[in-house]
Amino acid sequence: MNQQPDSRGMCRGCGYVGTRAEMSAHQATCVVRLPHGGQAREVFRLHVEGGGPYWLELDVTHSATLDDLDTFLRSIWLDCCGHLSEFSIGPQIDYENFNPLAQMEATEDAPLGPLLTVGESFGYTYDMGSSTDLKLHVEGREQVYDFGDPVRFLARNFAPRLKCSKCDAPARWVHSWEYDEATGEGVLYCGRHGKATRDEQLPVVNSPRMGVCAYEGGSMDDWPPAPKV
Ligand SMILES: [Zn+2]
Ligand SMILES: [Zn+2]
Ligand SMILES: [Zn+2]
Repeated sequence: MNQQPDSRGMCRGCGYVGTRAEMSAHQATCVVRLPHGGQAREVFRLHVEGGGPYWLELDVTHSATLDDLDTFLRSIWLDCCGHLSEFSIGPQIDYENFNPLAQMEATEDAPLGPLLTVGESFGYTYDMGSSTDLKLHVEGREQVYDFGDPVRFLARNFAPRLKCSKCDAPARWVHSWEYDEATGEGVLYCGRHGKATRDEQLPVVNSPRMGVCAYEGGSMDDWPPAPKV
C-alpha cells in the first residue's frame, strides 16, 4: 500500500483534526499535552507509520521499555495470535549474525531512552511469517504534562472509508486469501455481500494488520470516531 500523505487523524487530548504533518506540529503545542500545572516530564515523541493511511503519534518516557512499546503496539494495532515481534534500533544490531530471539530477550526490558535519537527512525516487525512492518520516527524530545504512563497514545488516523467490491456500501469484511488484482489487497465486502464465515473473512478494522492471519481488531477500534464531512 502506498503512503497516503493526506490521511487525516485526531488528537486524543483536544480533538484537533489534521494530516500527519499537521498533527506532528500540533502535538508540539497541544495545551492538553504540554505541562499545565502539576508535574512535567521529558518524553520522546514517536510517529508510527503502518503503511497506507495508518499512523499513530505516541509519547514514551525515558524509562519505558521495549516491552512497554511492544505491548502498546500489539494492543492497538497488531495482535492476532501472540506472534513473535522484533525491534531494529540503531547501530548496536549486528545484521550479519542477527538472531531476533536473542535480540528480543536481550533487550525487552531495556529502557528506551538511551536507544532513541531525535530525528532518527527505527523498525518494528510483528510476526516473522505474515509480517506487519512498522516504521517509527523520533519526532522530538519534549517536556509534557506527567500522566504517569510509560506509553501515551496521542493521535491516530481516521478509519479509511472502504467500499464493498460489489456495491457502494461500506466494507465490513475483508477476504483473507482472495486478493484484488489491482491493489494486491484482500477483497472487501459489505454486510450483505460478505459471507462472514470466520475463517475466510475478517472484520474491516482501522489497522495495518487488517485482513492478515486471524486479526479481528484491537483494544481501541472505536476511537477516533468517523470524521464529520
Ligand atoms: Zn491536541
Ligand atoms: Zn496470527
Ligand atoms: Zn456489497
